Amino acid sequence: MKAIAEKFMNDPALTAEEYAELIRCADDSETVQALTKEAVRLRNIYYGNQVYTRGLIEFTNYCRNDCYYCGIRRGNLHARRYRLSKEEILQCCEDGYALGFRTFVLQGGEDGWFTDKRMADIIRAIRATYPDCAITLSIGERSYESYRLFREAGADRYLLRHETADEEHYGKLHPQSMSLAVRKMCLYDLKLLGYQAGAGFMVGSPGQTVECLGKDLAFLKELQPHMVGIGPFIPHHETRFAKEPAGSVELTLFLLSVIRILLPKVLLPATTALGTLDQEGRIRGLAAGANVVMPNLSPLKNRKQYDLYDNKISMDEEAAEGRAKLAEQVERAGYHLADDRGDAVQ
Ligand code: SAM
Repeated sequence: MKAIAEKFMNDPALTAEEYAELIRCADDSETVQALTKEAVRLRNIYYGNQVYTRGLIEFTNYCRNDCYYCGIRRGNLHARRYRLSKEEILQCCEDGYALGFRTFVLQGGEDGWFTDKRMADIIRAIRATYPDCAITLSIGERSYESYRLFREAGADRYLLRHETADEEHYGKLHPQSMSLAVRKMCLYDLKLLGYQAGAGFMVGSPGQTVECLGKDLAFLKELQPHMVGIGPFIPHHETRFAKEPAGSVELTLFLLSVIRILLPKVLLPATTALGTLDQEGRIRGLAAGANVVMPNLSPLKNRKQYDLYDNKISMDEEAAEGRAKLAEQVERAGYHLADDRGDAVQ
């Protein structure tokens, strides 16, 4: 095993440069094996063989932002836009609850129609109907006051990937109107407000270097999020990155293991993007140290419209209605689908 990996396993607090050196070991099979084994050992200590599930409700694909990699960015005039009504969102929750989900993730573009008042009203309705469920939001950047209002209304968790912790790289992926500083501030606000907060990034996004990834890991170490969402970048044909190659599944798996060692108690999903690039991606993600899966609970009629990247999967085990199939799949691999909220251990 490479010396830097040994150092990392003894004490995961490295510098960004050292994390970059660690990531350069991703092609050394002995190092990969050792880190994977350690990641699984740690995951098993805190979460055993329990796999947490979240019902993902993609409730709007309207977005005011223009992130260059994203299929639902404002500038994509060919995107067929939709937004769910409060009643439709509640119907998703009802369906999800009956299927066994105890966490609902409301994800969407940054859609001005969902004002603070409307959002808080929806959150309150879900909270009142499902007091035993966790509510996760993933609706981008809002003010501290908005986040406070949503928290008071009953939201428990918030996913906001930082996308990249390298300023220059951030500038290559986003228009000038967006900034890494604001993104980071939002994450700190969310933590301050008592959310279980989730950061994260795409693996292999255009222009990403090993040094960028080193900074991502250093930022995660500093932020200490409860959740980390990472998945491979996948091109979307209506973006400037249409011809760019997709990120590597192997590197994503390696980084999942590294993140598990970095933050042993973290909630770490095996993401849809991973499952899109590799049929076995979800199970391979769990075998690398992940402990969460997020099947799709959005109405069937809208699923194809939440088109972040090409060929995004949303059926079978990736679909909430495929929960029984998913349960079988994870049981075969030695895990068990948990039937509770699945909070991060303290
Ligand atoms: N608007 C919210 C936000 O910005 O956090 C949530 C929705 S956003 C579409 C969810 C995530 O999708 C982003 O954080 C990004 O990492 C991921 N994503 C977007 N385009 C992608 C692509 N082409 N390949 C892989 N992931 C992508």
